[in-house]
Parts: sequence; C-alpha cells; structure tokens
Amino acid sequence: MTPPAAASPAVFVDLHVHSTASDGALAPEAVVAAARAAGLAAIALTDHDTCGGVEAARLAGEREGVEVIAGVELSAMRDGKEIHLLGLHLHRVDAIEGALVRFRDDRVARAEEIVRALNAKGVPVTMDAVRLEAGEGAFGRPHVARALVAGGWVSDLREAFDRWLAFGRPAYVAKPQLDAADAIRLVHDAGGVAVWAHPGGEGRRDAVEKLAAAELDGVETLHPSHTQDDRQRLGALADHYGLVTSGGSDWHGHGEGPRALGGMRIPLEVVTRQRERAERWRNGA
Ligand code: AMP
Ligand code: ZN
Ligand code: FE
Ligand code: FE
Repeated sequence: MTPPAAASPAVFVDLHVHSTASDGALAPEAVVAAARAAGLAAIALTDHDTCGGVEAARLAGEREGVEVIAGVELSAMRDGKEIHLLGLHLHRVDAIEGALVRFRDDRVARAEEIVRALNAKGVPVTMDAVRLEAGEGAFGRPHVARALVAGGWVSDLREAFDRWLAFGRPAYVAKPQLDAADAIRLVHDAGGVAVWAHPGGEGRRDAVEKLAAAELDGVETLHPSHTQDDRQRLGALADHYGLVTSGGSDWHGHGEGPRALGGMRIPLEVVTRQRERAERWRNGA
C-alpha cells in the first residue's frame, strides 16, 4: 500500500509575465485567467516600463484566486550594454509610475524614429499602423514587428527582428537608458527588490559582483533562454553574493514548454525569500 503523501502538493508561480500594458498579447485580466488555468498560485506582472496593468490584474486575481505581485521590467546600461532589471514586490506603485512616464515617452519617440528608418529603407509602414498594434500599451519593437507583419512587409515576427529591428539591423534604434545603479535605486524607492533579468552568459562573477555592489537584490536564474550552465552558474553566484533567485517564463501571450505561462515551474518558496528581502527597502523609505 502507498502511504498518503505527507507533503502538500507543489505550488508554482511565474515571476516574469507581460500583458497589453506593454508588448504582451493578452489584457491583464486575461493573463490572470490564464494563470489560474495553469494552476499557478501567483504571478508577477512585469511589463516594460509600466505598472499600468497591475491594478486590473490584482482585481482579477482577487476573483480568480491568483496572487498578483506588482512588478516592472526596466532596461538599463551596464558597461555599455543593455541589460534588463525586474522590479518585483513593488510596494509604492504610484511612486515608480511617476518615474516611468519619461521612459514611455522615450519609447514613443523611438517608435517614430524606427518608422522613419524603415521608410528611408523603402518600407512604408506608418506610425498609425504601429499605434494600432500598441493600443494603450507602452511602445516596443514587437509592436513595430506586428505592424510589419500586418502590412505584409515580413512574414513573421522573427523575420521582422532578424531583418530590421534587432540590434545591429538597419532599423535598430537604441532607447535612452538608465544606469543600472539608478534603475536599482528606483526599484528600492518603490519598496521592491531589483533582479537582473535573464543574464544568460553575461551573468558572470565580475558582472554580478559589480551589480551586487550597486545593491542588486537578486538574479533570474530560471528563464527559457538559459542553458543548464547558466542556471548553475547564476545559482552559485546568487549564493555567493547573498542574492535571492527568481524565475519566470517571460510570457508574452504565447509559447509552449518552458515558454508557456508557468512553464518554468518556479516554486512558491522563491516568493517568500524575495519578500523577506523586500522588507529591507520598506522601512524608513
Ligand atoms: P523593446 O523593449 O522595444 O526593446 O523590445 C524588447 C522586446 O522585444 C523583448 O521583450 C522581446 O519581447 C522582443 N524581442 C527582442 N528581440 C527579439 C527578437 N530577436 N525576436 C523576437 N522578439 C524579440
Ligand atoms: Zn517584451
Ligand atoms: Fe527582457
Ligand atoms: Fe520580459
């Protein structure tokens, strides 16, 4: 006879998820419904440069029984390269929203510049077509990519990036960037923890050490783009520098396997450790 299981069933979360508040395909409410369908206990909504979807997601979460952690994904510069930082467990969403307005304005100006670059290369896509894809969301290259697909200028998103939009391609436009230390401070000012998103192969000892010196709180060890080596190295570095870990699917509304919502199977304990860490930025600030 098999004895009854002593441990409670494993509970999973996903701490890196996008919605239509930025470049995801689904509205915040629909993201939460998908999280419930996937059996997740919690998600962190981490849209690019906005917390605009958090409130709607929270309300849906209360109905659906899914906890919604207030988050954001920021782009920042580290040694001349763009990195992404997740702000998680944001306590004062209003405070950070004020600071993010500038980045969203920059994103509009950049989208216009990308459209001009495409026009100059003979691709007559319009800003109106891009706006149609972005809706109320913070503008991103995926919106331009979708407008290119809709106009028949490329056959899919991958081609849009490979041919035009990726770094080094003819319509690539950089966006103004915060310094990583300033981005980390912004997250702390909002009472959250700052996590280096999908460091991949760049996440080596010297880089993590420097960011830890700038009070980085954690590293995203589990991400669909990471190799087994990345996971192990980042886990060991987190340990070494006393950082928390994080993980998520970076879901944008589609994807299978590890790229599906909840597909990285992040245990709930990860959230508990992040919360403890967040406490240090809550007092006195
Ligand atoms: P942005 O914030 O405007 O620079 O756009 C970044 C987003 O574009 C990422 O979150 C991805 O969703 C998407 N992205 C970046 N590079 C690629 C690529 N090579 N192929 C497809 N999507 C990409
Ligand atoms: Zn994105
Ligand atoms: Fe990212
Ligand atoms: Fe992301």
